[in-house]
Amino acid sequence: MSIDRTDGTSSTLPGQDLLAADAPDGIDRRAFLMRSAVIGATAVLTGCQPAGTDQKAALPTAAPPPPGSKLSPELEVVKKSKGPVMTTLEEFYKVGPGPSSSHTIGPMRITYDFYQRCTKLPADQLAKATALKVHLYGSLSATGKGHGTERAALAGIIGKEPATIDPAFLDELAAKPDQVFPVTLGSAAFNASLKDIIYDAPKGDFPHPNTMTCKLMAGDAVLLEQEYYSVGGGFIEWKGYTPPKKGQPKYPYATMKELQAHAEREKLTVAQVVMANEVAVSGKTEAEVNAFLDKISTAMVNIVKSGLAAPEATLPGPIKLKTKAGDVYRRALDDKYERQKGVGVVAAYALAGSEENARGHLVVTAPTGGSAGVLPALVYSIGEGGRKLPQQKIREGLLAAACVGYLCKHNATLAGAEGGCQAEIGVASAMGAALLSQAHDYPHQVVANAAESSLEHHLGMTCDPVAGFVQVPCIERCAYGAVKAWVGFLIASNEIPINRRVDFDTTVEAMALTAKEMNAKYKETSEGGLAVSLVLC
Ligand code: SF4
Repeated sequence: MSIDRTDGTSSTLPGQDLLAADAPDGIDRRAFLMRSAVIGATAVLTGCQPAGTDQKAALPTAAPPPPGSKLSPELEVVKKSKGPVMTTLEEFYKVGPGPSSSHTIGPMRITYDFYQRCTKLPADQLAKATALKVHLYGSLSATGKGHGTERAALAGIIGKEPATIDPAFLDELAAKPDQVFPVTLGSAAFNASLKDIIYDAPKGDFPHPNTMTCKLMAGDAVLLEQEYYSVGGGFIEWKGYTPPKKGQPKYPYATMKELQAHAEREKLTVAQVVMANEVAVSGKTEAEVNAFLDKISTAMVNIVKSGLAAPEATLPGPIKLKTKAGDVYRRALDDKYERQKGVGVVAAYALAGSEENARGHLVVTAPTGGSAGVLPALVYSIGEGGRKLPQQKIREGLLAAACVGYLCKHNATLAGAEGGCQAEIGVASAMGAALLSQAHDYPHQVVANAAESSLEHHLGMTCDPVAGFVQVPCIERCAYGAVKAWVGFLIASNEIPINRRVDFDTTVEAMALTAKEMNAKYKETSEGGLAVSLVLC
């Protein structure tokens, strides 16, 4: 089928091959054909190509999706779900460069870890070193370019630490990708560049969708090699990984129901249970834990402020997306309808944090980079950007939020590549609802209900970042996640708690099941949804 143009030429619809094809299983064929025709006609009429069709060839995200959500049973992230929650705050809230905890912070932590291992090799081996090589597989290969994975991986492999890196280094590397960096390992000196970060097979039977290998080379020989996995939320594992030794939690729990039983029996808040466990598992004092929480909340506040203060700009990448947090904030403040003002301001705070993430600037994983606009917006709105609750309430809120994230990680997933966006912004919103409830001194049942409500209304949400960039739908979706956290909190704090029909654990189970059954196209591969239907000019 072709369409005749007024200039006498004719054009074949880009969706032509789809029109001739069978609809995928489970999809109504008529709707499938209609959608294909609309995509094709849009392209002809506008002269633009849908992001997921012909233009894909020019984009870094054209690779086929990695295999489903099959995970190796050897991974700790799978095995750990059998015991009590052992995650600590420092493992969970991580500061690092955006835009993605699994595709930016995780890979940078991995290559930085490998660099550290290399420095510990015997001097005679190091003397032979000539190069460092990093291979990216699965989703890291399919969408890594849109996430800046190669820049983060290079920064780590030359010894830069995620939590302290100056974002200007990554900005500069994006602007001048041909830069070469000297590496010194023992007596060996050689150069490293983006050419050493290799986008390898996007599809294969990998232990995890985000698999990497790092190698220290001596000519063609391999001096040291390690396989790693970026398992979501900036967490990393490697082949043969054994978790670090930790203390036993004072109040062991693997479900919200078990946590609530401790709280009920001991007459504790959710935050008090989480604090007691943190002290027992990490070996830190309460004062040290509070100092860490203050560091995290300060980082979140600074992220929102710098996002609001940044001048309007076009974000990197083919979407040419304009930032808008500052505009939305200023106009929301001028809103003549007082009750709309709060919604607009919270949305602006979340846009600000998320735009900072999209710029590749520092973010706090809460639980991930893509969702990193949600919690800072809420922390700022109950702190100096709004309600001005005491710092102690913000600490307690962050503790309650953490246990919601822990449980989602423990019993489901935090990675868009495993579970779609329900696992990222859905979990962030649930954490936010718990934060708001705890910070306003509500009992454990309200905290659990608020988290449940916010998570429930993100179930099934797919991950389809356009062109592989954490911008559309991610940035606005953070604003929705933050506002939905307030809705979850308001419903839970105004209903009769024991009347709630759905409990948090049931919803986490539903998320895990949905993640398992979700088509791999909707798991951070940019092969489905908006990534295919949005027309990029
Ligand atoms: S769509 Fe959601 S899960 Fe996917 S990259 Fe964006 S924020 Fe993350």
